[in-house]
Amino acid sequence: MAGKRFIEAYKSFFNPKPVSPPFLHVCQVGDPVLRTATRPVEVEHLDSPEIKQVILQMKQVMKRYDSVGLAAPQIGIPLSMILLEFSPKRKEQFGAEVYAAREMSTLPLTLVINPKMDVIDYSKVELPESCESIRGYSAVVPRYKAVRLSGMDEKGEPVVLEKKGWLARIIQHEMDHLHGKLYIDCMTSRTFQNDGWHRINVHQGRVKIEFHKK
Ligand SMILES: [Zn+2]
Repeated sequence: MAGKRFIEAYKSFFNPKPVSPPFLHVCQVGDPVLRTATRPVEVEHLDSPEIKQVILQMKQVMKRYDSVGLAAPQIGIPLSMILLEFSPKRKEQFGAEVYAAREMSTLPLTLVINPKMDVIDYSKVELPESCESIRGYSAVVPRYKAVRLSGMDEKGEPVVLEKKGWLARIIQHEMDHLHGKLYIDCMTSRTFQNDGWHRINVHQGRVKIEFHKK
């Protein structure tokens, strides 16, 4: 039995199954799916096994990558769906000072299907942000101070969020994904950096960027 399992594992190593979206990894910049305008999800498809699978995998990938936001195109699906979460543990992660300075606040895991965004406060805030689809880098990006997001949840019930500060930034970032836009399109380009630049010097270049998370 163990021998058979070994042979199977050996075969699958040399003949990996063709992978197709939805993926369990995050697509990287250059993938055309990240530059595609998404299609809305039909309400009558909300109950379909395909949509349920996409939602399930978005949640799995979000958890794996310990991310605060994810858009369906990032797992290879050009549909209008975003996932947001800002858990209380982030306060410890960022530290109380940064948490307050960047106007961070908590948001439980929230799925928004076919979201529409309105700007409530047009004043711009410039802060650094990063994206799982441009893994290993970050840049300062100007974002509107407050936005209103409306759409529906997986049951088709309406969802309305009014958020300012860091959550407004996350919402704008994820909304951009649905229009094939990435933060590198609107960043302050001279602030673009490899987040490991210091570590790269310390380790004489022997640093890897992982694109897979367990
Ligand atoms: Zn992103």
